Amino acid sequence: MPHALVVAEITEDGKVKKATLAAITFAQKALPAVGGAFSILVLGGAARSAAAELTSFGAQKVLVCEDPTLAHYTAEHYAPTVAEVGKSFALLVATATSQGKDLMPRVAARLDAGFAGDCSDVLVEGTALRYKRPMYAGNVFGTVELTTPVQVATARQSEFDAAAPSGGSSPVEAVAKVAPGAAAARVDYVSLEAVKSERPELTEARVVVSGGRAIKEQFFQVLEPLAQALGAAIGASRAAVDAGYAPGDYQVGQTGKIVAPELYVAIGISGAIQHIAGMKSSKVIVAINKDADAPIFQIADYGLVADLFQAVPALTAELKKRKG
Ligand SMILES: Cc1cc2nc3c(=O)[nH]c(=O)nc-3n(C[C@H](O)[C@H](O)[C@H](O)COP(=O)(O)OP(=O)(O)OC[C@H]3O[C@@H](n4cnc5c(N)ncnc54)[C@H](O)[C@@H]3O)c2cc1C
Repeated sequence: MPHALVVAEITEDGKVKKATLAAITFAQKALPAVGGAFSILVLGGAARSAAAELTSFGAQKVLVCEDPTLAHYTAEHYAPTVAEVGKSFALLVATATSQGKDLMPRVAARLDAGFAGDCSDVLVEGTALRYKRPMYAGNVFGTVELTTPVQVATARQSEFDAAAPSGGSSPVEAVAKVAPGAAAARVDYVSLEAVKSERPELTEARVVVSGGRAIKEQFFQVLEPLAQALGAAIGASRAAVDAGYAPGDYQVGQTGKIVAPELYVAIGISGAIQHIAGMKSSKVIVAINKDADAPIFQIADYGLVADLFQAVPALTAELKKRKG
């Protein structure tokens, strides 16, 4: 049974993360080269409820491994089961989130499989797959082939549309957890220090409002009301993060998070290539910058040349007025 296996990502309370839908699209694109069908594997402490959510995407099977020891993700505990289930597939794919980037190389190593990470496209050449992926810090894209019988890849979320439910109902099949090896004995989950925010999660949000170095210490004072009015997540440029105006996990870009919301509002961000690498696939890009020659305007759908300290409060007030 060649075929493709999508490794789903879920929250600890058993909800499918939107990121998973990009990996499904990747697998669907690769199908002509891998036998025409894909299955989905979902692991976790509450994996069954997530599995139910995944039955309508046209998968041949939804394989579910629910186990209390998988309640908190660690690569060492997840990889043995993913590798055991995945060894009979031609292609294993997850989205290149923090978890996907952590887990899939380990799975590839266990399977002696070739690995293509952070792919921006997958191309079918007869019965072979070619993976397009960034190289040299995103300055060039290379197209690579893997020659191993099992191949492992991660998909860059912003480059693949979210798969839409096709209305079918895939059978759900339980799979046993594989006992972790010696590596897992050296690792234990202690706690998760998640930033508590009323804002949506950056990589899942429909709208992102991002700020640059120019906003200085007033970063949240300026951005929060606008984000509130738009129901948006807040992002930041690396310069804003490096200057200490925003926490590190707000960073968008090549060395931060990759986002592709329906609306991305870049405020006081110059548009350096490394920032653009993280948001260029946004559906609509709005830029506010006082420099008419700022590179961000080259990729913006709508641009406003203005002082952000005047434009953002005015925009926020107008949005609030319209919302009533
Ligand atoms: C290996 C590497 C990886 C990197 N990774 C990332 C990454 O992941 N993400 C990232 O963002 N960067 C990254 N960078 C940094 C990147 O090159 C830029 O330095 C950074 O994005 C610039 O941030 P900025 O736009 O906030 O600041 P600046 O480049 O300083 O731009 C500030 C902008 O604000 C405008 N401005 C100033 N005052 C106002 C005002 N009052 N009203 C309106 N506009 C105003 C200016 O005209 C300017 O365009 C990386 C760099 C390297 C070398």
